[in-house]
Amino acid sequence: MTLKATARRNAIHAMLFYSGGCNGCDIEAVNALLSPRYDVEQYKVLWTWNPREADVLVVSGIIAWQMLEPLKKFYAIIPEPKAVVAIGSCPINGNVYKNMVGDIGVNEEIFAPLESIIPVDVKVPGCPPRPEDIIAGVVKALPKILEAP
Ligand code: SF4
Repeated sequence: MTLKATARRNAIHAMLFYSGGCNGCDIEAVNALLSPRYDVEQYKVLWTWNPREADVLVVSGIIAWQMLEPLKKFYAIIPEPKAVVAIGSCPINGNVYKNMVGDIGVNEEIFAPLESIIPVDVKVPGCPPRPEDIIAGVVKALPKILEAP
């Protein structure tokens, strides 16, 4: 087994890419999951803000045109094998934002679903999803990472 594979078996690093929306998903993903009630770090699931050390990209919020290129860039930087988990209705279907029409036609500047931009391995629906569902979503994505050679 390679050093990289051994390290991954001992700790999974997840990176949150928050691209907009109401912040509700981020409160569940970061604040709740790091709280003593869930404490995902005790299972060696660690949040990172460095795409170079991430295994799982967790995407929340709507993808507005301003975030399109940063999202693609972060996805490209994350080393293989990697998995993408979309949490919440925003990245899954654009949620309420997809149909908003402002002076400049906002709906044409919202990109959804997420898989129209980058490959998605797991979708966790909800607005916001429960912390338990986010954990289950990340766990569902793990075989792709852990079973890679
Ligand atoms: S899915 Fe709902 S809770 Fe999550 S960011 Fe979008 S609007 Fe907020």
